[in-house]
Amino acid sequence: MATNRTFTMIKPDAVKNGHIGSILAMITNAGFKITSLKLTQLTVSDAEKFYAIHSERPFFGELVAFMSSGPIVAAILEKENAVADFRTLIGATNPADAAEGTIRKLYATSMGENAVHGSDSDENAAIEGAFHFAGREQF
Ligand code: UDP
Repeated sequence: MATNRTFTMIKPDAVKNGHIGSILAMITNAGFKITSLKLTQLTVSDAEKFYAIHSERPFFGELVAFMSSGPIVAAILEKENAVADFRTLIGATNPADAAEGTIRKLYATSMGENAVHGSDSDENAAIEGAFHFAGREQF
């Protein structure tokens, strides 16, 4: 499997609860190289654009309000098989269903406030990375 990239956000719940360091350590200990990294905050409009695919879903308003409610950490990660391996590391969307030892099992508080985002395809990883990082911030 060729080395490739995924995109992640440490969501406002995990930032607020003091888990940035622990989560970044889990990510690097799992073999991911951080190639871009920043603390930032989404506006309502940013969150609506980022999650546009979910705009018809009943949880969309709540998701946008939550994701713009406080600082997040955005990062681009590099590893062999990055997208799939990162989805394994973060665990199921609902922390109640997440496997032991996954980031969401350890740090998510609910289905909505679930600590981290991970891209679901190589194509979306590239789109999401470019959404958050200018070309000069990508290494
Ligand atoms: N979400 C939610 N309620 C749901 C499903 C999803 O609040 O019933 C939120 C949750 O924060 C999730 C995000 O919407 O991480 C995107 O949903 P998706 O199905 O893409 O899950 P993910 O890929 O993040 O596991």
